[in-house]
Amino acid sequence: MSQLHRRTIHELHELLKKREVSSREITQSVLDRISAVDTTVGAFLHVEPEKALQEADEVDKTIRGGGHVTPLTGIPVAIKDNLNAEGLPTTCASKILKGFRPPYDATVVHRLKQNGAVTVGKLNMDEFAMGSSTENSAYQKTRNPWDTERIPGGSSGGSAASVAADECIAALGSDTGGSIRQPASCCGVVGLKPTYGRVSRYGLVAFASSLDQIGPLTKDVTDAALMMNVIAGHDHRDSTSANVKSPDYTRCLEVDMKGKVIGIPKEYFIEGMDREVEQSVRGAIKVLEGLGAEVKEISLPHTDYAVATYYILATAEASSNLARYDGVKYGHRTEHSKDLVEMYMKSRAEGFGPEVKRRIMLGTYVLSSGYYDAYYRKAQQVRTLIKQDFDDVFGDVDLIVTPTAPTPAFKFGEKTKDPLQMYLSDIFTISVNLAGVPGISVPCGYTSAGLPIGLQIIGKHFDEETVLQAAYSYEQSSGIESRKPAL
Ligand code: GLN
Repeated sequence: MSQLHRRTIHELHELLKKREVSSREITQSVLDRISAVDTTVGAFLHVEPEKALQEADEVDKTIRGGGHVTPLTGIPVAIKDNLNAEGLPTTCASKILKGFRPPYDATVVHRLKQNGAVTVGKLNMDEFAMGSSTENSAYQKTRNPWDTERIPGGSSGGSAASVAADECIAALGSDTGGSIRQPASCCGVVGLKPTYGRVSRYGLVAFASSLDQIGPLTKDVTDAALMMNVIAGHDHRDSTSANVKSPDYTRCLEVDMKGKVIGIPKEYFIEGMDREVEQSVRGAIKVLEGLGAEVKEISLPHTDYAVATYYILATAEASSNLARYDGVKYGHRTEHSKDLVEMYMKSRAEGFGPEVKRRIMLGTYVLSSGYYDAYYRKAQQVRTLIKQDFDDVFGDVDLIVTPTAPTPAFKFGEKTKDPLQMYLSDIFTISVNLAGVPGISVPCGYTSAGLPIGLQIIGKHFDEETVLQAAYSYEQSSGIESRKPAL
């Protein structure tokens, strides 16, 4: 059977169950694909073919022995490089963590392994997940498979690009302000940020702990549900992981929007937004309406403050989380220091890239005693108002639908000189993290130049099911032709 790398989890699962293919064949197909295209795409920081094939062989043995075949058994997945996988490096695409090999698996990685998934490698990202284009990686560029002159989005750019380029069957990413959804939108794949607390963050290198959440990037909505079935659920190792039951996320996958009320926030359709993005998203809303949904205009009045609020809170948390990289505990240590203080300073100066330094300085500033009340405390208060906007609206609607990103994938270098422009890439995704609610990006069309566009569907706390149902209903009825990037 050829082109196995192009298939979805659920398609491959059927083949594996019937023993029409082996995990080794699938894994080999994915590894061959990586060899063929990753010199162009640059999604992977680290691939270990031998290890992956060995894992596949073990899975095949279990299958042959009549062992239980879960939907993830034998499926090659790839992991964003801020998630720990035992035996593989975790660098967060930063020089400061070069050579670091964690001695344990993140809970999500552990659960994937328990379910028989095969880990093919670690994926490029913006350094410490700070960015929207993956240009902040200290190691390499990741190119958008749809147009290699363009960025794949970020910070989970490697995750989105690898799925779009069929270099893995599914990937894990993390989303603090949009880092799963925005790259999914840029690369034409599905990306789900679960409710804060739904998925354990144990083994995820912290960026902004009150916002970070792990989620899947997949080729379709069914695969997102299958990944959620494995990674979601309480974990005593993460004190912010919620002790609520996780449903079977595939049960909600039916085409039906009858009785569902969808809110369209007027603040998200603004003067000067990309015309093709607006057209596609308006078209998608029509499709959902055609499936029986009631659509109404809503208001999230504090939307204007979201980006500013986020950049105070996220940088404050980052400055504290990143204090641990001091050249002592792990990571890079300078070779040129006279004393301890100089060793700290030089190790950090040499190890961190410019964006990370900018965030640490900003975060330290907003937390400093003279400015704490004016910035950090105020931002916390505004965060509460933003969350209340969502609570109020969700009294009347089941879902909120918006574009995922204001523009399609932009060109390399277009926004690197102006951090503010880069920060605005997440204008539609950031509030979702501040409120802690779930959001998905599903492909909803292409620009005339052939670049993918994403539709964002936002749900109530712990209501990933309605989000997935709407995404599935749309996906099955959208009528957009299925395309693959011409690599
Ligand atoms: N682009 C945003 C930032 O730079 C969000 C990143 C993320 O979600 N990790 O902080």
